[in-house]
Amino acid sequence: MNKLRISAAIVLILVFVPGMALADKAVFEELGSKAAKTAMEQLKFEKGDSNILALTDAGHVIVDGQTTQAALNGITAETGLSLGDGNLFQILRAYWKPLWFYFFDKKTGEAVYLQVNSKILNKSLDEFKALSDNQVFSKITKANADLDYMLNHTDEGNATYNNKAFGGNEGTVVPFSNVWAHDAPFDFLQATCFHDHLCPGVTSGYFLAKYVEEKLPITDSSESYKVISCPNWCKEDLLQMRWDATPGKSGMFVMALTDTEKKAVPNIAGIYIRWNDTAKEGDALVLRYNSTQSGDLTGTANWKGPSWASKPLSCVRLLPYMDQPDLFVSTIKELKVDQSMLSQMQNAGMHPLKVVGVL
Ligand SMILES: [Zn+2]
Repeated sequence: MNKLRISAAIVLILVFVPGMALADKAVFEELGSKAAKTAMEQLKFEKGDSNILALTDAGHVIVDGQTTQAALNGITAETGLSLGDGNLFQILRAYWKPLWFYFFDKKTGEAVYLQVNSKILNKSLDEFKALSDNQVFSKITKANADLDYMLNHTDEGNATYNNKAFGGNEGTVVPFSNVWAHDAPFDFLQATCFHDHLCPGVTSGYFLAKYVEEKLPITDSSESYKVISCPNWCKEDLLQMRWDATPGKSGMFVMALTDTEKKAVPNIAGIYIRWNDTAKEGDALVLRYNSTQSGDLTGTANWKGPSWASKPLSCVRLLPYMDQPDLFVSTIKELKVDQSMLSQMQNAGMHPLKVVGVL
């Protein structure tokens, strides 16, 4: 058989053997549409309902070598939800993780979670359209995700977490739904999508950011923020997103501290620099973050309730203080930074807290 015949044979196989054709954009659009229709049926909502939030990892996850972003079109087409309206968000997940969709109704607190059966996407559009919901989704679960409801119905709340009603994504979707329902600012929600889950740690990043922006505002196009994250915790992910302070562009250097070092500088939250890249100089703040104060104010410090509730509850109860970073953040030291000092702080052989003289 010559090369031409072999190519023709391959084309014929792809055209005529069911299931051999690769899934295309239309299949993923249809997938998003199927997820939305199922959720609309189960939660009983119509297109354009402002009580609905959708979360998904579509666009990050890759199934059978195919990217999944077209599913977002299907969701928007059916429900009207969109990033522009702040009611459809893409949650960061590693590309090999399961593809899922989640819909939440803030009026009732009810939510539907749908996890995709990754084995059925390698079909033609017509074949895919013919599949039932139970073939398309390996898991369809409905549970109440409203924190007040869950705390008043502890058995249901326990079951939701223990049985992984939302596919193990409870730590993401429950706090996200509740802060969204309590009108959390879009910039906060958008940045937390990058963090995978939503927790008091990533929320502390918002307070630290607000504090720095107030004390050292950016006023010049040559300026940017650089973070010497020492020690690091969940806050770094919000700062990277908000300030475009990424390690790849030398906007952030991440270093851990030993327990002894942490005790020597209690509540230390890192070094924050407003750097002028033209003048090659900057202003730095060494900051502390008081998580005890946060626990006291939110009533979660000595939490006696269900273990799953304290973090989401803390996030919801911190929302009224979003514009009062001084409640939690304070300055340990202020200093001027030149190029040589910046280089020392970034150098693996140096200790940044010793460079700035707080250790
Ligand atoms: Zn976190």
